[in-house]
Amino acid sequence: MDQDGERLWARTAEIAARYRRALADRPQRPQAGYRQMRAAFAAPPPEAGEDPMAVIESLATLAEPGLHAMAGPRFFGWVIGGSHPAGVAADWLTSAWGQNCGNHEAAPAAAAAEETAAGWLLDLLDLPRDASVGFVTGATVANFVCLAAARSAVLRRVGWNVETDGLFGAPPIQVLIGDDAHTTVFAALQFLGLGHDRVIRIKTDDAGRMLPASFTAALAGCAGPTIAIAQAGQINTGAFDPFPAIVRAAHAHGAWVHVDGAFGLWARVSPPHRALASGVEGADSWATDGHKWLQTPYDCGYAIVRDGEAQRRAMTAAASYLPAAASGDRDPTHFVPELSRRARGFATWAMIRTLGRQGIAAMVDRHCRIAARMAAILAAESGVAVLNTVELNQVIVRFGGDGPPERGDDATKAVIARVQADGVCFVGGARWRDRWVMRISVIGWSTNDADGERSARAIVAAWQAVRPS
Ligand SMILES: *Cc1c(COP(=O)(O)O)cnc(C)c1O
Repeated sequence: MDQDGERLWARTAEIAARYRRALADRPQRPQAGYRQMRAAFAAPPPEAGEDPMAVIESLATLAEPGLHAMAGPRFFGWVIGGSHPAGVAADWLTSAWGQNCGNHEAAPAAAAAEETAAGWLLDLLDLPRDASVGFVTGATVANFVCLAAARSAVLRRVGWNVETDGLFGAPPIQVLIGDDAHTTVFAALQFLGLGHDRVIRIKTDDAGRMLPASFTAALAGCAGPTIAIAQAGQINTGAFDPFPAIVRAAHAHGAWVHVDGAFGLWARVSPPHRALASGVEGADSWATDGHKWLQTPYDCGYAIVRDGEAQRRAMTAAASYLPAAASGDRDPTHFVPELSRRARGFATWAMIRTLGRQGIAAMVDRHCRIAARMAAILAAESGVAVLNTVELNQVIVRFGGDGPPERGDDATKAVIARVQADGVCFVGGARWRDRWVMRISVIGWSTNDADGERSARAIVAAWQAVRPS
């Protein structure tokens, strides 16, 4: 009997290492699809228990064909970080330690690591050093938490306590949001009773940035509590909203400014890219991810709020709030919706130490350089158009030349399918400005220049194979 899990964990580490070793050379798509996986996992509920070693061996065998190489070096589908080994190791310890990281008395190490990591994040992202930070599952929930703080603050200014009295009968809140905001921000508005359609959508330019003139015009029509939502890093183009103009106008109007910076906020760590997000520090709240550019394992995101009291008010379970506030001690649960939760601070702490400021900056720069190089290789081909100015790590590509839009859509879809089947790299597709495009997101820690080069060549080969002659 393996009482302490020792043999089981050693074997698990072997399985994990074998998986990672094979990742660079295997197809970057899953070998088996959803239907096959469903059939593989389907089984009646087990009546008798089994030896854990047999269970884990069986899990690894069953899952392996259906695993997507999201941690692989040529995975460019969606903005998905690569689960760096150091973050994974810290996450294993987090599980092994079994800490419930709700409050600092119950979990002193977890609370302290989180507090230090929070300070590091504010320093790296160059945001107000006294802002509060909640460790959540990702940018979706970070957007939710920040917007809950915003809702609390803007209603409080007109004498309404949304925590005690809810939204029934409350003064209406105006929400301004860019037309190309991420879908999860609309989800956060939906969760908060603010409605995903009851918003004022601001016109954007061809890269998805809000037009300042449209923003100020819309703002002028807003009376009462107002929240403006901007974006650092558009999911397709990587573009940044014009923060200085938006923050200035919004604050002159008394509005709260929230920024969804799931991946783009990390440009601030890199000296050559920092200017893209300049002025973002003037906002009131920021959502970002650990599991994207910081490469922590899934899941990890951060909800950062300038007015820490607003975040506490919005998130704290009523009874436990005041005593901790009085003592000045920080409880992880006070800044997030959950009480019992994973100690995400450990993996964040480990990743920031592993990479350091210089390592994060070098990685961001490398990813942006690779994206630009891939864009250049693709743009040089006839019948291929790169639709965005590659300032960050995102590239959107259209195939098929100047013919009718449907022909280009079909050609683009055919190239994506061909690239995925071929497996050298993985890319996805999306609709952008009513056209189908290939999306390339360069974000995995293990992606190097040669991977970018090889992948761009594979995409060109796929285009040559499917192009109408
Ligand atoms: C990924 C992303 C989100 C959602 O983040 P999750 O971590 O998946 O919850 C929100 N906004 C932008 C811009 C993103 O790239």
